[in-house]
Amino acid sequence: MGGGARQGRARQASPHMLTVRAEPDGAGRERPVPEAGQRLTHEVVNQVPPLAGYDVASDPPLLEALQREGAGWAIPQVRELGRLAGLAQTQEQARLANQNPPLLRTHDRCGHRIDEVEFHPAWHRLMATAVSNGLHAAPWTEPPAAGAHLARAAGFYVWTQAEAGHGCPISMTYASVPALRRAPDLAAVFEPLLGARAYDPGLRAPEQKSGLLAGMAMTEKQGGSDVRANTTAAAPAGDGSYLVTGHKWFCSAPMCDLFLLLAQGPAGLSCFLLPRVLPDGTRNAMRLQRLKDKLGNRSNASAEVEYDAARAWPVGEPGRGTATIIEMVSATRLDCVLGSAAQIRQACVAAVHHAAFRSAFGRYLIDQPLMAGVLADLTIESEAATSLAMRLAAASDRAARGDTAEAALLRVALPAAKFWVCKRAPAVTAEALECLGGNGYVEESGLPRLYRDAPLNSIWEGSGNVTALDVIRALRRSPEALDALLTETDRAADGGRRLDQAVALLRSELKKAAAATEAAAHYRARRLAGLMTVVLQAALLVRHAPAAVSDAFCAARLDPAAGGDAAGALGPAVPFGGLPDGIDLAAVLTRSQSVVPSR
Ligand SMILES: Cc1cc2nc3c(=O)[nH]c(=O)nc-3n(C[C@H](O)[C@H](O)[C@H](O)COP(=O)(O)OP(=O)(O)OC[C@H]3O[C@@H](n4cnc5c(N)ncnc54)[C@H](O)[C@@H]3O)c2cc1C
Repeated sequence: MGGGARQGRARQASPHMLTVRAEPDGAGRERPVPEAGQRLTHEVVNQVPPLAGYDVASDPPLLEALQREGAGWAIPQVRELGRLAGLAQTQEQARLANQNPPLLRTHDRCGHRIDEVEFHPAWHRLMATAVSNGLHAAPWTEPPAAGAHLARAAGFYVWTQAEAGHGCPISMTYASVPALRRAPDLAAVFEPLLGARAYDPGLRAPEQKSGLLAGMAMTEKQGGSDVRANTTAAAPAGDGSYLVTGHKWFCSAPMCDLFLLLAQGPAGLSCFLLPRVLPDGTRNAMRLQRLKDKLGNRSNASAEVEYDAARAWPVGEPGRGTATIIEMVSATRLDCVLGSAAQIRQACVAAVHHAAFRSAFGRYLIDQPLMAGVLADLTIESEAATSLAMRLAAASDRAARGDTAEAALLRVALPAAKFWVCKRAPAVTAEALECLGGNGYVEESGLPRLYRDAPLNSIWEGSGNVTALDVIRALRRSPEALDALLTETDRAADGGRRLDQAVALLRSELKKAAAATEAAAHYRARRLAGLMTVVLQAALLVRHAPAAVSDAFCAARLDPAAGGDAAGALGPAVPFGGLPDGIDLAAVLTRSQSVVPSR
């Protein structure tokens, strides 16, 4: 009470409540001038206007990729979503959804188990927008138009910049469909509902809902990478269904309607579809034990669950659970790359916007040579990540329409990109955050949330080492994947000395990996996955980006003199902002300044 009263008096007496005149200063800014007898404790100048009310999809590499890769028809929709993502109201929904994390309600007031998670209304609004825009399934439901997966990928990339946490159930629902199709009877019932553009939250029998969402339950306490060690058991119930008993250690978005789950059946590790609510309307025996207290991803719920003879139905060949669910894993890996590329873009744009309005030592930060170098470095990293993410989305589109060469490219390039692009996101976010100085470290800037979220894509759906090892597996088991990779890099042949040398280096590293013992190949897996990704990025930029961008990327990332890979250490010697001489900084920066309003 006392403090409030003191605050009240202080506020009344505050000089800020007084009317003051404003006069222009030397830099053309209005500065308040106190009247005689008035006091100003401080004046607010040189603070940056919020980056709001802009089109997130005003993103040259994104729009050019859509046009180039056959989804130009989707640009108006993507831009509409971009405008929605950039609204101040959407930013507020994102803040609310993260400031008010989900709450677990295990029991009702009478002590009955209910196992429900309560979300803030802002979460539901974000989900409703994602679902109504088809980000959770559009390519599976519409007639298979060329570019449908790419269009959806672009929408996901744009909308996840509004708020990343709710992308989890959206991605898992999208990814569940190819795996579910291994059980045609189940797919016939549930696929239309998974594809419906109706967000219908709440626990009810799936068949009675207007739209469904799906999750994934693989990871157990004793291990997530090595799912063969799963102990959860599935026993035949005698009517075609199974009774599942055991636990899962991470089960995100537990309010989803359906889960693809791995459990040990009579034939070994198998995949099952487990609904939260049974067809008769009773709740399936899936108990939510507690929610994880996570570093980031705080708007989303991730639960520890137990199954007490929960009913599930088999999906795919019994005993081939990993092979079945890998279809889902592969699609979510693409979303990890898209999500990290989106975080990189978002962080980069926030830094460029801030530097365009903030001045120090008499000049705007963006005009300070060293800061311009940092921002240009972030910009080329962002353009490389976006271009590769969109190229992979286009490959998944063509693979879905039967293009085996594109499927082979995905087999090796997707785990490599998942390893590298997701690893770059935390580094970029940290650097971008610092471009805002102390303001970047403060929650209201939005950067801390981005920073906390940044490491996640690298952990789930195969942590860094696991995806790097998957690259080795792909190379050793699928000669067509290697061919597809080299065909892709050859498309940029004669793209300049640095790229040609880097492609030659990649070829020799690939040969070494093929001839190496398994242990030696595994030991070098990260290096190879990183090299492969950077070369793929450089090849794409050389073919499609403005020369200023591709020159800067090749000089900074491929040239041994700049600390690039040929010296054996991937990436520039200085984390960011150590670009070599001769870069056209102004031309590079136009790519990330597209959303920055004029001063
Ligand atoms: C926020 C969040 C949400 C999640 N949601 C879900 C979900 O919905 N469903 C689900 O099933 N899981 C989920 N997970 C779990 C996630 O997929 C696992 O954490 C991940 O697969 C790693 O498994 P693990 O945690 O058991 O680590 P481990 O498997 O113990 O791995 C630990 C480390 O060892 C490395 N490693 C493993 N094998 C090797 C090897 N052979 N050589 C070298 N290094 C190796 C890994 O790369 C990792 O860095 C979620 C995780 C998080 C953080």
